[in-house]
Amino acid sequence: MKIEDMIAANRADCSGCEACANICPKNCISMKRDAEGFAYPKIDHEVCIKCGRCEKVCPALNFKPTIPAELPEVFVTIHPDAKVRRHSSSGGTFTALSEIILNSGGIIFGAGFNENWHVVHTSAENLDELENLRGSKYVQSQIGYVYKRVKVELENGRQVLFSGTPCQCAGLKSFLVKDYDNLLTVDIICHGTPSPFIWENYIDYRAGGHDIARVNFRSKRFGWTNNHIEITFYDCGYYANGTNQDLYQYNFLHGIIERPSCHTCKFKFPNCKSDVTIGDAWGVQNFSPKFFDNRGTSLVIVHTAKGKNFLSKAKLAGQRVSFDVLPAHNPCFITPSIPDNRRQDFFRDLKNFPHLPIAVMQKYFHQNPNKVVPSGRNLKVEATQKFDAILRQFAKRREKNILFITPILNGNVINNFVGKILRDFKGSGGYIFQLQGGGKFILVDAFHPIIRLSGEMKLNSLRDLIENFHVTNIFVDRQINLSDGLKNFLENRNLPVKSFEVHK
Ligand SMILES: Cc1cc2nc3c(=O)[nH]c(=O)nc-3n(C[C@H](O)[C@H](O)[C@H](O)COP(=O)(O)OP(=O)(O)OC[C@H]3O[C@@H](n4cnc5c(N)ncnc54)[C@H](O)[C@@H]3O)c2cc1C
Ligand code: SF4
Ligand code: SF4
Ligand code: SF4
Repeated sequence: MKIEDMIAANRADCSGCEACANICPKNCISMKRDAEGFAYPKIDHEVCIKCGRCEKVCPALNFKPTIPAELPEVFVTIHPDAKVRRHSSSGGTFTALSEIILNSGGIIFGAGFNENWHVVHTSAENLDELENLRGSKYVQSQIGYVYKRVKVELENGRQVLFSGTPCQCAGLKSFLVKDYDNLLTVDIICHGTPSPFIWENYIDYRAGGHDIARVNFRSKRFGWTNNHIEITFYDCGYYANGTNQDLYQYNFLHGIIERPSCHTCKFKFPNCKSDVTIGDAWGVQNFSPKFFDNRGTSLVIVHTAKGKNFLSKAKLAGQRVSFDVLPAHNPCFITPSIPDNRRQDFFRDLKNFPHLPIAVMQKYFHQNPNKVVPSGRNLKVEATQKFDAILRQFAKRREKNILFITPILNGNVINNFVGKILRDFKGSGGYIFQLQGGGKFILVDAFHPIIRLSGEMKLNSLRDLIENFHVTNIFVDRQINLSDGLKNFLENRNLPVKSFEVHK
């Protein structure tokens, strides 16, 4: 299939990663904005030599789902320099990773502002230049020919850090074809990227003819958890407003103005292609309170050995946390954000009144300016379902998935017991079903407990566990008497029951 046919069939397939425009040997692909203000490739057929390279490079056309070898390690981190954290959206992890590359004479690529406050991918070769790449810009960044520049730097043997959205990292990886030891790729947990046309009109409107000195989408003046957009002027102070009170942020966070591909995003976990993913450690005060001071904490997900090596060298304080903080607090890592049901109307209005984008934004903003972001709840339910599906996939690949049925165990006993299982059954997936005390499942991966699910102590739920998680061996504590129904069920499944004792 050709890229133009793919886009004609479903615009949401194209993330606008620009890999096709970068690979074209005739430079005959230009990125043209549609009526919503998002860029899509347009081929000049007079110049095209039909080499097919644009089709081969497109990460959407060639999309194959990834099955991870194991669940990635997750950390909370903070940069020790208070100024760095003040200027970063989360815990300053992007800066800490960049510092390693810059110290070795390397170069950083990421999203920055140009002289008109439009968002573009650009580079930094020292800490002063890095300032422009620091901080989230909630707009789709224009890649331009940055992938080509990355390749030149890599071929020259320079250390390179490329940062961007997961679809941009996928675009770069696809463009480069081979792996480079001197490349570190860092993507972000991505809610989605709004229309550049909307942003550019918004920032002109806010400036009102005054010169802007700084734009900060995530000012921490009132704390990281209470962040707000802040635009500072050379001659007239600053504009600041909370996410639900600001015209632009409202439309963004309500899922009204993001790119269509963001709502069916192909590059969520486990399909991200980066070495490391960084995001906000929302909820850290509950699961890792030592790293909460309301000045910003990062969540870091490590996908490769290279990513782990860089993280271990980075100037960061932090600790490992469970993978299950992700579906609970940051579902966008796993599930695309849900479009608001007014999205279509918004862009229909914009198409009819392309010269009045601010009026269109105001129309939707005034419908309910103070409403709390509504999609979070649905998002969490969907993320939890997807997370369960990932765990099932993960469990399925293990040759042995062992189920232990035990009496209720207290914290110490369970820790010792889990430790013993991990030693004796290394490489197996394991589940502990505590048959008294409300029927708790504890799922154990090769190294550490990753999730606790509470379930009903019914035959049905045990049956579901055995079927869905592909249990292959069952051990039952001698203190437990299984019902005849359960024994029959297990016999029919050809699962002989072995006995053991937790308390010897
Ligand atoms: C559009 C967008 C949506 C996001 N959604 C979420 C979310 O739902 N949940 C969550 O936990 N975190 C989200 N993040 C990530 C978060 O806001 C921080 O960017 C991230 O945690 C890094 O913070 P830091 O303190 O390490 O470094 P910072 O210095 O704050 O991070 C800067 C990094 O972000 C990259 N970046 C900034 N803007 C863009 C852009 N427009 N396109 C591509 N790359 C960009 C830069 O290249 C750089 O690598 C999002 C970021 C963006 C840009
Ligand atoms: S087929 Fe080749 S020349 Fe034509 S647009 Fe695609 S990459 Fe360019
Ligand atoms: S390579 Fe990227 S920009 Fe080009 S068609 Fe594919 S998804 Fe769209
Ligand atoms: S949500 Fe997906 S498609 Fe949208 S910008 Fe992020 S990675 Fe790209």
